[in-house]
Amino acid sequence: MEKTIQLIGVPMDLGQNHRGVDMGPSAIRYAGLEQSLTRLGYTVHDMGNLPVPQRYGLGKLDQEKLYTAIHQGCELVCQTACNALQAHESTIFLGGDHTIAIGSISGLTCNEELGVIWLDAHGDSNTPQSSTTGNVHGMPLSVLLGHGHTELVNVGGKKAKLRPENVVLVGVRDFDTSEKIFLNDLGVHILTMRDIDERGMGKVMQEALHQLRHCRRLHVSLDMDCLDPQTAPGVGTPSPGGITYREAQLAMEIIADTGKCNSLDLVEINPILDHGNITAQVAVDLAVSLAGKTII
Ligand code: MG
Ligand code: MG
Repeated sequence: MEKTIQLIGVPMDLGQNHRGVDMGPSAIRYAGLEQSLTRLGYTVHDMGNLPVPQRYGLGKLDQEKLYTAIHQGCELVCQTACNALQAHESTIFLGGDHTIAIGSISGLTCNEELGVIWLDAHGDSNTPQSSTTGNVHGMPLSVLLGHGHTELVNVGGKKAKLRPENVVLVGVRDFDTSEKIFLNDLGVHILTMRDIDERGMGKVMQEALHQLRHCRRLHVSLDMDCLDPQTAPGVGTPSPGGITYREAQLAMEIIADTGKCNSLDLVEINPILDHGNITAQVAVDLAVSLAGKTII
């Protein structure tokens, strides 16, 4: 990572129905992210929270209003990410739900391609047509690949922000059939929990990095529900049979070794559903490993 890191709070909770994920940035700060990164030798600039649209002020939301509000929030995240990139500062986006990645990744690709490691229990690749819930946090990956609601696809400009060969999905175990078809048709590289069970996280991450070897920069989009709910209970859509604490740490350590990763989304932490802020604490531990903390 660059030696200066910006922390950018994005208290967006419009992508799903569980209240509380807007408090994620506070929970992560409370768990000591800034202090831990400072101890590692980084200069940390906490930029506070971005003024993204809040559910409280929007009145009754129909689905179209929801897309417009998420678009507005993601444009703000996008501009902030692009500015940080041009200032050569690393960025950690404190979510919020996973819709914020539409903004962060759109901004981080404002002038150059990016390789993305998307750690998630879910495919996040629905479209308004395929989604049974309408929850936009189930759509950010398809949006970034250029498919989905026009307002969201157009965040940061009218083009796909990611090429399918620049994305690897890791830790998935809860796919909708339409998502499987969509991602397989595009040729997105997917490493499921079965791959991790059979081959181990070390080999799986090496394969992910081999897939992205042509990318000069890497970004980690870390949905905390990729972890097993016993390790990270404070998420809105927990899915059993997930990544262990050590597997997640190893993944971060192997990515850090490349020296190519300067940005991270920490998303879907819901303090109301958590036990004693443990999920935010795990998120901090993982961010610090990605920033280069080693055991010895
Ligand atoms: Mg998820
Ligand atoms: Mg997700």
